[in-house]
Amino acid sequence: MDTYRNYIGGQWAESNSQKTTPNVNPANTDDILGVIRQATREEARQAVESAAAAYPSWRATPAPARGKIVARAARLLEDNKEQIAQILTREEGKTIAESRGELQRSINVADFCAGEARRMTGETIPSELPSNFAYTLKQPLGVVACVTPWNFPVAIPIWKIAPALVAGNTVVFKPASLTPATAVRIVEIFAEAGIPTGVLNLVLGSGSHAGDEIINHPAVKAISFTGSNGVGIRLYEQASRRGAKVQCEMGGKNPVVIMEDADLDLAVESTAQGAFGSSGQRCTATSRAVVVNEIADKFVQRLTERAESMRIGDGSDATTEMGPSVDESQFKTVLSYIDIGREDGATLVSGGARASGNGLDKGFFVQPTVFDHVTPDMRIAREEIFGPVLSVLRVKDFDEAMRVANDCEYGLSSSIFSNDAARIFRFVDEIETGMTHINSPTTGGEAHVPFGGTKGTGIGDREQGSTALDFYTELKVVYVDYTGRKREGNLY
Ligand code: NAP
Ligand code: MG
Repeated sequence: MDTYRNYIGGQWAESNSQKTTPNVNPANTDDILGVIRQATREEARQAVESAAAAYPSWRATPAPARGKIVARAARLLEDNKEQIAQILTREEGKTIAESRGELQRSINVADFCAGEARRMTGETIPSELPSNFAYTLKQPLGVVACVTPWNFPVAIPIWKIAPALVAGNTVVFKPASLTPATAVRIVEIFAEAGIPTGVLNLVLGSGSHAGDEIINHPAVKAISFTGSNGVGIRLYEQASRRGAKVQCEMGGKNPVVIMEDADLDLAVESTAQGAFGSSGQRCTATSRAVVVNEIADKFVQRLTERAESMRIGDGSDATTEMGPSVDESQFKTVLSYIDIGREDGATLVSGGARASGNGLDKGFFVQPTVFDHVTPDMRIAREEIFGPVLSVLRVKDFDEAMRVANDCEYGLSSSIFSNDAARIFRFVDEIETGMTHINSPTTGGEAHVPFGGTKGTGIGDREQGSTALDFYTELKVVYVDYTGRKREGNLY
């Protein structure tokens, strides 16, 4: 069994800590992948110091040379795609098809970022004065902390680490405690790709100790965080006090609006995919279906049939459609929200319990669950559950659908099923989410397209795509006077 090691100053070393936690397969709790020793605060400090020491020479390395290392990492990810996908499924529980998809997304992101290294361009700006001009440069920030969740333990670290490195920052990576094996593989790949000593450091430890030490360290100039709102807002408060730059991508409660003219088969299948894919553990998962009364009965009936036909099981079996919740705590949270839905008076139409029998008893499996007649004030309509639980909210028309869809503290993703162009464009204008999909699930995104949320979901720059480097760079403005004379005009 593996004991996972930290990577600090170019060395893999076991933590001195006596505090260990097992890395458990959520589909079968008898299967232990390895053991984490929870890094100490002292080790977290060493990681930051090693990143700080490596910064001057990494900053001075030409961006295209930095990009070449990221491109090599992309090729190594590709060569190891199947192996890492298998670890991901065993560690996090998602189906093998979902893991392969996540790996491909990660490869695409790394490729895109490697290309950005050759496009770290600025602007040239004409001056008001003769024989003068101005231009802008993008420069790195220094040491950046990447703090990531367990639900996309490969793709999210890659979409933070790759642009951070390309931009010339050095990195301390603090992955979620639940997914150390994939985190170690990612860092091994960057090390093999030739990342210089100290430029990328890995600290495996709890958020409240090692994580807290990293985000409060004065040498950390910026923090890119993805995770829950509770942790993200606290981290934002702390880091902003010392003027550090912060980017937080947090929770979602993503609605799908289904109009009477929708293609019902498509709407049902896409809603099921969005709600139950990755066992509902995507930040972009569909968790509210806002359905007009006219087709609500039919929609709920078809969706229920689809939910009941889902093949639940170990994600490593290629026929499995839905895996387990990630751990016991998440599993209990999901089951407790199902109780809350019942107590608040929603109508349970499908699922609603632990999935058992057929080899499921050793895993954290929950049945795909649908509640009908959910009202906007109920907790299952407002709070992120992060499990395979869908709330159907019935509305009379499009206007009410918009009000209900937007009545939410989060603003990550959304979608609409309709064939009426005018309505679709009104939806695009008025929906309060950072991303939206037309006639497709709320989930999914492409490597070269910006990603992120609004309202309670997102703080700071968008990640990926044309905006990938924004957070990791700052702009320097340069004025050049080539008159060789004292300035004559006034610049205000
Ligand atoms: P989490 O509990 O907030 O943890 C996220 C990361 O923060 C983990 O590495 C965690 O470490 C660390 N952390 C916890 N407390 C900390 C502290 N005091 N200081 C510094 N770091 C700390 O989130 P999660 O349960 O892993 O992930 C699920 C959440 O992520 C959901 O809310 C989901 O919506 C959100 N998410 C959002 C997006 C998006 O793009 N909007 C994408 C994916 C996921 P430990 O693991 O050691 O606790
Ligand atoms: Mg957590």
